[in-house]
Amino acid sequence: MYLSRLEIHRFRNLRPATFEFSPFRNYVFGDNAQGKTNLIEAIYLLCLAKSFRTREDVDLVPFSENGYLVEGRFLSNESISHHAAIMLDAQQGKQIKIDGKRLNQFSKLVGLFPIIVLSVDDYEITSGPPAQRRRFFNILLSQCSSRYLDDLKRYEKVLKQRNVMLQERVAGRRNGEHMLDAWNTQLVQFGAQLMRARAAIVDELNSHLTAYYSILTNKKWSLRVDYHPNIRFKMNDIETRFESALNRVRHKEKKQAKTLVGPHRDDFIFAISDHELRKFGSRGEHKSALVSLKAAEAQVLYKRTENHPILLLDDLFAELDRDRSSKVLELFDPSSQVFVTGTSLDYAGLRPAESTAHQSTFIVDNGKINRV
Ligand code: ATP
Ligand code: MG
Repeated sequence: MYLSRLEIHRFRNLRPATFEFSPFRNYVFGDNAQGKTNLIEAIYLLCLAKSFRTREDVDLVPFSENGYLVEGRFLSNESISHHAAIMLDAQQGKQIKIDGKRLNQFSKLVGLFPIIVLSVDDYEITSGPPAQRRRFFNILLSQCSSRYLDDLKRYEKVLKQRNVMLQERVAGRRNGEHMLDAWNTQLVQFGAQLMRARAAIVDELNSHLTAYYSILTNKKWSLRVDYHPNIRFKMNDIETRFESALNRVRHKEKKQAKTLVGPHRDDFIFAISDHELRKFGSRGEHKSALVSLKAAEAQVLYKRTENHPILLLDDLFAELDRDRSSKVLELFDPSSQVFVTGTSLDYAGLRPAESTAHQSTFIVDNGKINRV
């Protein structure tokens, strides 16, 4: 699935325009603060109904407008075509339309047009707190299977209600213990599915990571990610382990008034040749690991969905030396659609050929995007 056409009507600083994209490589260059990331963000929004850099939909509205509107046409190899539109306006709120039909839940969009973004905020995945790593895995797994997204939403709902109950000190009162048991059953049921899925996808990612990292860096160092679940388990005993962990902390949970064990406290650890990246990695190593991770993610998504995800690689060359920059695009399947942004300096260094059937090049200048 690739994005063949994008129509920007109203979005951040971008001027209204229609673009035809290459199914393969699309380069977007320009000076700082011209609108490169905004373009990438508009594409991401169309695929996942949210931005990768803000939780606030109103941030996407141009300063002088009351709403945003972005439309696009996606094509698959089998020539199946879908029209998608996403909009926010003062009267109707936020809406998504696929082939003219309004989606009643934004989550139904997830997985229709698989997408991966690499952006400056991704340094948080390898260097930030565990929540950023859980977020990475949640987005990947939700695009792989709507079942995972359902389980995640249910788990989060149960967790919230269980915490409210603990805060209201319902447990310990008459019937309170029964209610807590009932929440535990659901917490374990949905939580176990999340843990199973996380363990499996980590193995799949690891089957690619070292190979990609070696291509990029020319070094025989390994890159891997390890799952550190909050509750230690084997694939066949998750439920019993989760239940006994809950029983063990019952007293403490009542005191602290929150749920203390479960996959909402999972972590994942990245390591280069067994040295933890978060503690020892240089800026360039983080970037190389992230690029390798995104390439592995693309392979996993392709295997699971039989669809090449669209890749948005924002500021791809930043933090990479010349040698790594020249190899970085080799990591991505030639038949997948890739959007790469870079500065004017990258443009001068890379000198991509003019637009051809296999690639398109765009220059962004103050919100105006021209094909060259
Ligand atoms: P860099 O190379 O620094 O990453 P960029 O080309 O990626 O630059 P963008 O992040 O796309 O730059 O931002 C371009 C401009 O858009 C910025 O000047 C920013 O202030 C402006 N901008 C951001 N949000 C809005 C908005 N809602 N309305 C109008 N302009 C906005
Ligand atoms: Mg940018």
